[in-house]
Amino acid sequence: MSQRIVILGGRESGVGAALLAIAKGYQAFVSDFGQIIPAYKKELNEAAVSWEEGQHSLDEILQANTVVKSPGIPEKAPIIALIRKKGIPLISEIEFASQFIEQPILAITGSNGKTTTTDLCGRIMQTAGNNTAVGGNIGIALARLMAKGAHENYVVELSSFQLDDIIKFRPKVAVLLNLTPDHLDRYEYSIDAYGEAKFNITKNQLAGDSFIYCSDDLWTAQRVAKHEFSANVYAFGQNKSSEKAAWMEADSLCFQFDNYDFSIPLSDIRLKGIHNYYNAMAAGISCLLMGAQEKDLRESLATYAAPQHRMEEVTEIDEVLFINDSKATNVVSVKYALQAMDRPVVWIAGGTDKGNDYSELETLVKEKVKTIICLGIDNSPLLQAFSDEKECRETQSMEQAVAWSKSTASQGDVVLLSPACASFDLFKNYEDRGQQFIDAVYQLNQKNTAV
Ligand code: ADP
Repeated sequence: MSQRIVILGGRESGVGAALLAIAKGYQAFVSDFGQIIPAYKKELNEAAVSWEEGQHSLDEILQANTVVKSPGIPEKAPIIALIRKKGIPLISEIEFASQFIEQPILAITGSNGKTTTTDLCGRIMQTAGNNTAVGGNIGIALARLMAKGAHENYVVELSSFQLDDIIKFRPKVAVLLNLTPDHLDRYEYSIDAYGEAKFNITKNQLAGDSFIYCSDDLWTAQRVAKHEFSANVYAFGQNKSSEKAAWMEADSLCFQFDNYDFSIPLSDIRLKGIHNYYNAMAAGISCLLMGAQEKDLRESLATYAAPQHRMEEVTEIDEVLFINDSKATNVVSVKYALQAMDRPVVWIAGGTDKGNDYSELETLVKEKVKTIICLGIDNSPLLQAFSDEKECRETQSMEQAVAWSKSTASQGDVVLLSPACASFDLFKNYEDRGQQFIDAVYQLNQKNTAV
């Protein structure tokens, strides 16, 4: 009898794991306590995977040889305790997929910048002529990529949830970009527990593997100092130091490690903002270690633009520039966005606040922001933080927010949507919020140009 794999969760990770299980000759059963969307049901049916929704049937689940858990399922879910009590091996989708991957994996985690860095690494590796698969948290599940057949190498974005149940997962190159409080509800409100989950990315690495981190990030730097690594360790940061593999100097990114010693002027890099230079340094070091060449790095950085909704320049109307940074769902990303602004800012912010501490933004807001437009159901945290200092207006309509921002802005200003909050109060998700912003800006432009 073939092995029975039970998969908890019927979204991208779970369906990917099921497809891989079938491709490898296992029996697969998918169980989702919520509802499975029709497109995924269709895929499961076509692959002859049995599934259930709205329940977890113990008689089906506890017969498993192995249980594969989707990242959305918290350790506290009652079904997890039952599986652990019965002693059934319980692994994450990433762990499951990586058991079948012999090719090198470049894995990227962190609180901010994962998608940009992963996407950029994919671009560099492909520019270098590799048949590279890009996936994980960024879109296509690693298991699904593997089910389609092996690639030359893999670039994978990993959330902390995906690193929770890693057993043997061993990336050749691992990147930890930064660590700021996020998702702490899953980690007993402990930054150390959340950080350790991210640090798992390096735990199975061996001599010859590489670990790359940002030495300007306090938590990571402290954790690295205490840790003994089997992997080679490479740091990047803003200021030059002999221990760093990459840093910023005189308007260039400098790379100096192993046999490399070169610099790239910032003017030759399409990405802008310190946060993106961090991402570029991380991507540069890691792709060189994965076998790309300096010329591939230069070529990619010259043309690569961040994915949509991340500091995206939408258009300019009457010399007012509109920037969509809807993906900025925490305070740190807004900090980098404001730092990158060299024109006065009308700031659209707000949404579902995950316990933000806005004091970190005080100086920047004082310096750069003219007006704040609060776009959320409960705007009290923003108002409390800034209404004494700045003009704040409240609305729950994107159209209204954009119209106000335009009427408040003067020639030469920037309207920046960078919410510092999740989007689930007024929008489906950050993409929906960003798209509504773009639509409202274009509508405004049409009204403006209509005669
Ligand atoms: P993630 O996938 O980790 O959420 P993204 O690349 O999607 O990261 O970027 C999310 C937000 O964070 C965007 O607003 C972006 O401008 C900002 N950002 C990108 N890179 C960094 C970084 N290295 N540090 C801080 N903020 C960043």
